[in-house]
Amino acid sequence: MARKQTTKTAVKKSTPAKRTAKKATVEASLTTEPGEEIVKEEIAKETEKPEGADAVKAEAPEEKKTTKRAAAKKTTAIKKTTTRKTTRKKAEPAEKEAEEVKAEEPKAEEVKEEKPEEVKEEAVVEVKEEPVVEEAPVEETKEEPAAEEAPVEETKEEPAAEEAPVEETKEEPAAEEAPVEETKEEPATEEAPAEETKEAPAEEVKEEPKQEVYMSPRRSIAFIGSECYPFVKTGGLGDVMYALPKALVKQNCDVKVIIPRYKCIPQKYQEKMVYKGSFQMNLCADGRSYYVGIMEYVWDGVVYDFIDNEEFFSSGNPYTNLIDDIPKYCYFAKAALAALNYLNWVPDIIHCHDWQAALVPVYLRTLFENTKLTTAKTILTIHNLRFQGIYNIPTIRYWSGLPDYVFNKDALKVNYNDANMLKGGLAYANIITTVSNTYAGEIQTAYYGEKLDAHLRHHWRKLRGIVNGIDYDIWNTSTDSRLYANYDITNVLEKKRENKRKLQEELGLVQDDHKFVIGLISRLTDQKGLDLVNTILRQVMDEHTQFVVLGTGDDVYENSFRYYENAYKGNVCSNIMYDETRAHRIYAGADALLVPSQFEPCGLTQLIAMHYGTIPIVRETGGLKDTVEPYNMFTNTGNGFTFDRYDAGLLLDAINRAKTLFFTNRWCWDEMVQRDMDKNFSWENSAKQYKELYLELTR
Ligand code: ADP
Repeated sequence: MARKQTTKTAVKKSTPAKRTAKKATVEASLTTEPGEEIVKEEIAKETEKPEGADAVKAEAPEEKKTTKRAAAKKTTAIKKTTTRKTTRKKAEPAEKEAEEVKAEEPKAEEVKEEKPEEVKEEAVVEVKEEPVVEEAPVEETKEEPAAEEAPVEETKEEPAAEEAPVEETKEEPAAEEAPVEETKEEPATEEAPAEETKEAPAEEVKEEPKQEVYMSPRRSIAFIGSECYPFVKTGGLGDVMYALPKALVKQNCDVKVIIPRYKCIPQKYQEKMVYKGSFQMNLCADGRSYYVGIMEYVWDGVVYDFIDNEEFFSSGNPYTNLIDDIPKYCYFAKAALAALNYLNWVPDIIHCHDWQAALVPVYLRTLFENTKLTTAKTILTIHNLRFQGIYNIPTIRYWSGLPDYVFNKDALKVNYNDANMLKGGLAYANIITTVSNTYAGEIQTAYYGEKLDAHLRHHWRKLRGIVNGIDYDIWNTSTDSRLYANYDITNVLEKKRENKRKLQEELGLVQDDHKFVIGLISRLTDQKGLDLVNTILRQVMDEHTQFVVLGTGDDVYENSFRYYENAYKGNVCSNIMYDETRAHRIYAGADALLVPSQFEPCGLTQLIAMHYGTIPIVRETGGLKDTVEPYNMFTNTGNGFTFDRYDAGLLLDAINRAKTLFFTNRWCWDEMVQRDMDKNFSWENSAKQYKELYLELTR
């Protein structure tokens, strides 16, 4: 808990500094060339560094870190399989973990105090039980040369390391090699229908059009990211890593998802994983090598490969603090590529997600350039530009083992002596995508660009926006077992009333069909526009209105919502928790859902709300703008109520417009409910667009 709280403080502290830095670059960015912009931005950044960033650097001089790590390495290098057993016992149920995982981004200060102790503890336990797995890779012995030569040799050695454990690989699935071949053979599916149509008699032709989807050429894709539902999820990224691969399988794709094997993955999934092999991998600039285990789980046509290394992934949460996260994700990015090599699976596309996997394209075009993987094209998707993986150059250079030349201002370098992992990935990826068209445009401006706007403008030609979908297996009003009453578009009006009444009862609210129930389901952070909500909630709360919030996050918001619950007993309910079931019930029982975000790359809550017949009230930004068409009272069209500027008065106005329609023209309101339910937010649309992109890249 202590860690969680200090983390929050760090985020808060750094925000004002970030904002001033942003403002400082606005004018410059509008009048200068991208190249100049980068330089200016670096100068601005150097003089106005966020406090959090300073703290991180001050606390973690690289020599200290290196020594700590060196100590940790030797002791833990032998462990793996043994600690794995113990950690399984400690694993907690999925939902609890999901709740813990909701923690915010890292904080550096406490790490310094905690780390040495953690390391010691582990070392004692693990030395006892010996490593069966690690003996295999003979290649361990390979001494890495001096930092600068490392890249060259590593490239050569890497495949060798993969060959070493061949004996262990006996289990290796023939299936994995298949995709490569299939890719070449593909067009068969496309041609078939045409031929048959010519030759076959008219009656037979009727039989074919079953498999339209499979007419698209086959492609193989490796998804690499730091989280994936239901194994581990902290936000939208986890949803995408789960749902998109599943949808791509239906678009004739072979998909392998590579994620870390965190200790917090629920035991029920850990048990199903199958050991596929292991090897030693050179990582650091001084040639230190690390164990890489591959555990596999096949589900719904998707192959999930978990990168196993207790030393990096044994923390309770996927993300802890930058001091640990930087080495962790340097390791992960390289290990993911090495695992593909080891499994002899060469995908057409390597699709990476967020800063944690951003070094993958960089590795591929440097240390892996001479491997068979080099034919693969890379895509880097930005799910949230706010998190970039920034640390000082010596540390990232050491942990990544990347050659010096990538630490230049066009690739990883930012400020005077910092490296930005996301920036490097954006430079080296063949294509950059983000999760909505509007956000793709916004991040090229200083306001939304998180200091990477100049870099993104420079790479604008390869930047696309593809909006997310929602998983219709999970979000289905007709079958959702968490709802009080299931419904579909034909009986939504009646059944939604029932869901509303039961929700009011469960939450201790006054049970009244005629109240206008507004829901808010969100991480409670400044990104989500909660300052606006706090400003106007008193004006919203009249005798006809109820307000239900579900979320966890910053103390300031958690406490203000607790206050409102107390102030408006029976009409405000603040659920300061992470609870999937409650979320489903609020989506079904509320009349409207509030999403007034400051920025929103895509946003899933407004999509789920519409799919559940709940009218969204949103700010016109990012994916919210792309998915919610404003209601037009003259034409009686649209899907929700919107406002543009980040302004509390405009939010209040949007809520009042919604209320007015609800109370004075229920017929039109109900029509909008049905219209929203009728919209298609399935992953199928998005998967088709991604597939198009894959085809375009590999044509
Ligand atoms: P972000 O990724 O920025 O957190 P998104 O709107 O993309 O926001 O995704 C949020 C997801 O997390 C949605 O599926 C939403 O239902 C879920 N969620 C957010 N907070 C909670 C909570 N407290 N309890 C249950 N589900 C939540």
